[in-house]
Amino acid sequence: MTIPQARPTCIDLHCHSRASDGALSPRELVFRAHERGVTHLALTDHDTIAGLPEALEAASEVGIELVSGIELSCVWRSQTIHVVGLDFDACAPALVSAIAEQHDNRWRRARTIAERLDRLKVKDLLERATQQADGDVPGRPHFARVLIEAGVVKDLNQAFKRYLGAGKPGDVRAFWPELATVIGWILDAGGQAVLAHPRKYKLTATRLRALVADFQRAGGQALEVTTSGQSSGDLGFLAELCRREGILASQGSDFHFPGAPWCELGAIPAMPEGLEPIWRRFRQPVAA
Ligand code: MN
Ligand code: MN
Ligand code: MN
Repeated sequence: MTIPQARPTCIDLHCHSRASDGALSPRELVFRAHERGVTHLALTDHDTIAGLPEALEAASEVGIELVSGIELSCVWRSQTIHVVGLDFDACAPALVSAIAEQHDNRWRRARTIAERLDRLKVKDLLERATQQADGDVPGRPHFARVLIEAGVVKDLNQAFKRYLGAGKPGDVRAFWPELATVIGWILDAGGQAVLAHPRKYKLTATRLRALVADFQRAGGQALEVTTSGQSSGDLGFLAELCRREGILASQGSDFHFPGAPWCELGAIPAMPEGLEPIWRRFRQPVAA
């Protein structure tokens, strides 16, 4: 009998399938991750766990460890923030209903934007914006693209300046819950809350520290320290922040579609020394 050679551990805890704004089905995504050498994967679609059952089935076929995941939008000091939830009980009733409500909220906002722009007489505005969003809930950039297509405006800039930007009719606030609320959902379902791509919010260092402090106070456990396409300066900054605040570290590619050389499943820089990885806290801890 030959003992199969163990694959080196490769952990990717942030990616998207067609269940939100990714290009691949959950099944295709898991197969691609396996081909790229990923051994532990979390599918983290925006505000939905609809892709999880299909991903789980594919994962057991190819022999990947699938960790339950989601990326939840929320608000902190009027700024939209993303929180990745990992390793939670995907059947927890409170979480399931909170996610359903979050999804309804996104559609409610999209419908309100469409109604407010009704007077522009763009045929099938909401449907076309939804197509622009690949079937997911459209946001303002998707509406902007339809307005350009319909010849109402000449570019994105004009679309926002006239119809979608601050104070304009299509400027409908997202109905996102507070940061502490979504962290609570994840913790109550037995999971780990990770502050996604902390450098993407373009916050000053002072403001980012304030965010991290509030995140920890609400029970959040980790920062997403390594992600694809991030500068080494940002990586060093986040690693230092983790060490100083004693917060755990997570990593993920934030993969959405094939063909982007800067963002591929499993292609994540090595975790800097001296950080404690979030996966040691999983219900089935990963040794790496
Ligand atoms: Mn996305
Ligand atoms: Mn995000
Ligand atoms: Mn993402």
